[in-house]
Amino acid sequence: MSGNKPTYDPARIEPQRQEAWEQRGDYSAPPRPEPGQTPIYVKASSPFTSGNLHMGHVRDYSLGDAYARFHRARGDAVLLGFGFDAFGLPAELAAIERQVLPSDWVRQCGDRMLAQMKRLGYSFDYDRVFYSSDESFYRWSQWLFLTLLEMDMIYSEDATVDWCDTCQTTLATIQVEEGGTCWRCHNEVRLIRRPTWFLRITPYLEENDENTGKLANWNELALATQHYILGRSEGVELELEGSGGKLTVFTPHREFAGHASFVLLSPRHPEVDAWIAADEVREQLEQMRSGGWERSARDASAVPLFDTGATLAGPGGGELPVLVSPLVDARFGPTAALGIPLVDEADRDLAARAERVASFEAAEEGEAPAPAPVVAAGEAKRYRANDFSISRQRSWGTPIPIIHCESCGAVPVPVEDLPVELPRDLVPSGEGNPLAERPDFVDVACPKCGEPARRETDTLDCHFDALFLWVPAAVPPEARAEQMFTHEELRDWLPAERLVAGGDSGGFVFDQRTVTKALRDHGEFAFMENGEPFAGCLFHEMVIADGRKMSKHLGNVVDPDELVAEYGADTVRLAVLYAAGPAKTLNWSDGAVRFANRFLRNLWTYSHDRFAQLPDLAHDPEAAADTEHMRDRLRKWCDNGLERITADTAELQMHKSIRNITRLFERIQDFEKRVVKRRGQLDRADAEAQIAALVLLAQVLAPFAPHTAEEILLASGRPDGADLVGSWPERAEIPVGEDSAAAAP
Ligand SMILES: [Zn+2]
Ligand SMILES: [Zn+2]
Repeated sequence: MSGNKPTYDPARIEPQRQEAWEQRGDYSAPPRPEPGQTPIYVKASSPFTSGNLHMGHVRDYSLGDAYARFHRARGDAVLLGFGFDAFGLPAELAAIERQVLPSDWVRQCGDRMLAQMKRLGYSFDYDRVFYSSDESFYRWSQWLFLTLLEMDMIYSEDATVDWCDTCQTTLATIQVEEGGTCWRCHNEVRLIRRPTWFLRITPYLEENDENTGKLANWNELALATQHYILGRSEGVELELEGSGGKLTVFTPHREFAGHASFVLLSPRHPEVDAWIAADEVREQLEQMRSGGWERSARDASAVPLFDTGATLAGPGGGELPVLVSPLVDARFGPTAALGIPLVDEADRDLAARAERVASFEAAEEGEAPAPAPVVAAGEAKRYRANDFSISRQRSWGTPIPIIHCESCGAVPVPVEDLPVELPRDLVPSGEGNPLAERPDFVDVACPKCGEPARRETDTLDCHFDALFLWVPAAVPPEARAEQMFTHEELRDWLPAERLVAGGDSGGFVFDQRTVTKALRDHGEFAFMENGEPFAGCLFHEMVIADGRKMSKHLGNVVDPDELVAEYGADTVRLAVLYAAGPAKTLNWSDGAVRFANRFLRNLWTYSHDRFAQLPDLAHDPEAAADTEHMRDRLRKWCDNGLERITADTAELQMHKSIRNITRLFERIQDFEKRVVKRRGQLDRADAEAQIAALVLLAQVLAPFAPHTAEEILLASGRPDGADLVGSWPERAEIPVGEDSAAAAP
């Protein structure tokens, strides 16, 4: 028996299985789901084209791939979609550093990452892979911009940006060094005001809020991010009158509104101007607006604050000074709030800094202030979530489809003229604005009056491209240029059955939910009635090492390639899934890899030995009858195990599935030990029951360690082909009774 026992050699078997999958075309999404088939679109996160998968990606894709394989085995129509978030600063900075074309760099990085993904055995539909920097993609970013502009969800407003006089360029926050100097020339950076495009998300805040309570297949981590981003405060609002007219003010402290001693107004409140009389106060407002307070702390003792000099009649009598501070935005959005130092610590800090407000000492411990509700106050709520800027002064991004004309102003590019192409031969240097220096890009005729005009040279932030990054995989590549939002397959796959993404994706997802609702109302996504792009959502935490975030600087980066080279893809996949539940941070250790590798190795050897021994075993009806109760117990173990593994995998609790797989293996070995202890050896009936159990085990292992599982199934005698893994077992078919052994050849 021991003559040519095959050893477990992932470096040999994994490429073989991958080639078989590719030849079989296993993982292309079906052209259309068949009648009665459940469409399952699994959307994994879209990485930046950094050139290297990190362990966080491995975690993400191992989860998504296992889930997709599980559903394929259940007979569902599965689309495992993938695409790159390819525009943006990281690629531009890499191109500047290397003096290469960003488009070349992105493609090079993408190719390398796709090769890594294939080596890990992920069953994405690789024919549907896309890059957000593809023309067929960004023409739709431009279409979306124009559509939202028409819906008044996009507007232009002055905003504060960092500017380097030496490099003649605006800087992203990460390009400003600590101490406020430029990353490139190290000269001092200053803040300037320039027109910026904003996305208005407020029209859908309330609906997003209501829906968040109904999202059944979202895990807690994912839901928590949505609640956090909304930042809902409940309370009351009332109308006050004063020197600037009427003003609606909000407070979360409904019982204590009568104790208010000032009103705090957001510098972005639409009516703020009415409360500014003196020139010097206006100057303070301007200063606050240009002071970069977006970056400042939410700390009430340091946040910018000024007194307008205006007053309002207080709800509890007396006059309330009107103060302005962005602290309102950070707590309740761009609104007006009552300052109630008596019960609110942040208000107490502000009161201490305002001359016209009496200082308050915190109430003594255990001494509750007397309630002072206001009768005329109505129920109200506020959201902290707010509009955000979507344009950047960068050259590696989607060109904004706007033309500036001296007589007509900002004119949208007509839809039939899309895409506004980004010059492909642009090499950014980090100096100036390369797009603005290209006459072939900038100089155009105004679409309205035909006079010479200039193209907008800002580009869209890649966050804007991400608003529909979940869409293209659901559209066949050849149809994307024309039918990105109208293709019939969209109705098959959307909403996505499951989004699998990192815990830091909450902002992206929130904005994707907003835009889905806008496109529902505009018509394209009318078939998604609740405006939710993801029926289910699994957010997972990140992978760290030695209790710290992985970083080159700390020298604790775990390289997936090295792990795959040493242990094989299946070991890495199994380890990353087994080591922690998705909602927990995974602190990487070699222990998990060693455990996974030992398990696969043992299972491999054990199964191959049992398959090889079977023909030598004799059948004795009397012996078989004596161990029938043991086979029956094995069947029950298998049934129980299968039931749990099925339920946990459907819930994406892969760590539990794998724990139950390893337990089931222990029980299969235990069965043999017990039979041998009782009778000295296995009867053929026992061996057949055991092999059926091993085959079942390989089938349920397939979503997690697909190469090893398929090789074991091949060794069990199953023919290679599309049906190698077979359909996911409904229950354990373990031969127990006497007649089953007799029926064997
Ligand atoms: Zn500079
Ligand atoms: Zn014009």
